Amino acid sequence: MNDPLLPPRPTSPSSDAGEALWQACVDQLAQELPEQQFNTWIRPLSAKFSDDFSRIQIEVANRFKLDWIRAQYAGRLSELLLQLYGQSIHIDFSLAPKEAPPRQSVTRILADVEELSPVVNAHSDGGIQGFKNRINTSLCFDNLVEGTANRMARAAAMHVANVPGQLYNPLFIYGGVGLGKTHLMHAVGNQLLLNRPDAKVLYIHAEQFVSDVVKAYQRKTFDEFKQYYHSLDLLLIDDVQFFANKDRTQEEFFNAFEALLTKKSHIVMTSDTYPKGLTDIHERLVSRFDSGLTVAIEPPELEMRVAILIAKARSEGAEMPEEVAFFVAKNVRSNVRELEGALRKILAYSRFNQKDVSIQLARDALRDLLSIQNRQISVENIQKTVADYYKIKVADMYSKKRPASIARPRQIAMYLAKELTQKSLPEIGELFGGRDHTTVLHAVRKISAERQTLSDLNQQLHVLEQTLKG
Ligand code: ADP
Ligand code: MG
Repeated sequence: MNDPLLPPRPTSPSSDAGEALWQACVDQLAQELPEQQFNTWIRPLSAKFSDDFSRIQIEVANRFKLDWIRAQYAGRLSELLLQLYGQSIHIDFSLAPKEAPPRQSVTRILADVEELSPVVNAHSDGGIQGFKNRINTSLCFDNLVEGTANRMARAAAMHVANVPGQLYNPLFIYGGVGLGKTHLMHAVGNQLLLNRPDAKVLYIHAEQFVSDVVKAYQRKTFDEFKQYYHSLDLLLIDDVQFFANKDRTQEEFFNAFEALLTKKSHIVMTSDTYPKGLTDIHERLVSRFDSGLTVAIEPPELEMRVAILIAKARSEGAEMPEEVAFFVAKNVRSNVRELEGALRKILAYSRFNQKDVSIQLARDALRDLLSIQNRQISVENIQKTVADYYKIKVADMYSKKRPASIARPRQIAMYLAKELTQKSLPEIGELFGGRDHTTVLHAVRKISAERQTLSDLNQQLHVLEQTLKG
């Protein structure tokens, strides 16, 4: 019985909070892992927290899976739990009892996950041949928020989806991580299948294509492989930068590419850089990549980040007031994936604490993230931020390498170091791998002159400055 002097306790606060926490964790892994891995290892798990949230018991179907999950995923799971909950939670793995039906709460969690990330293919297979299109039906045009950053890519993709095989073939989409390239590809696939349910569509990550080539070799099924690829109406191939140095794969891809274009099938590709920026990919392939339409996706601007947050919150059944969305969007600037991560934290936090989403709540939920941004600006910090932003290694800030893809971010970092810290030119040169002060001066002058005329650069610098200032 409840003590009559105390307010009645909600039926089961800890189990609700547990569900939300576990769900947030699973959700995050769904983003991080390839679909197949997620479906095989993570999706079937069920979890239960101890009352004080110091431990979580994860049940796994059999011994083999248990060992594998412990080895492969335990580390990431406990990181995520720590990140989401704010305190470390000890993980106990155990074998699921054979007969026992899954607990009520667990079933609900799994149902939620199913709903949130319907990775299973609705359009998929023509059954007999086991043909799977690998399209994620939850990634469509409807839930891809449009903004200046993706307008052109989105329009081109929409055109291709509605009138394939004609203009913009191949369509080459490039941009940094987490900006919506993969989403856009799936959207093309879903839209085409909506118009023509019998179309033969395939979404494939470049790494998977590489491993398919290898398998076809080992199993001597090359003819089948060819037949299969060459018969597609739409090939969506993601992250083609992974073809680097894979000669045999590049050759096969080249063949498939030619065959598909000849029969007016459409090809959509993504990459982290524009075609000429690709390294270790044969010139003839690179020039093919660039022969249709090449479009960039940029990091989303503030208004777009706000719109994305509001839309995503709504799709998770929560309301995010505009002022809160602005607060978050101002503080999380790099890409949409991080924006989603922040939103997830806020929603989880609001559920655990049974409080409405407000700026104060967002501030609490994102405490770690915000405190990192408020630290003092150091040259090291600038180097790291700029390297992250342009997707190069921090080590390249000190290295002697000179390709433009590296030299330019380095010059930008030098410029920012001069602008945002008290360091002298020689001191900055020293911190950039012992470079001469004249090199730093040259970089500072060049970037500050260019930012007057290049609006893209100016925008990027603006984002970097805001990020660094916090
Ligand atoms: P990329 O392939 O460029 O690394 P993804 O397509 O995986 O990025 O996008 C990362 C996450 O952000 C996905 O969950 C995606 O749905 C979401 N996302 C990206 N851009 C948008 C957008 N414009 N509107 C809504 N969601 C977006
Ligand atoms: Mg991607």
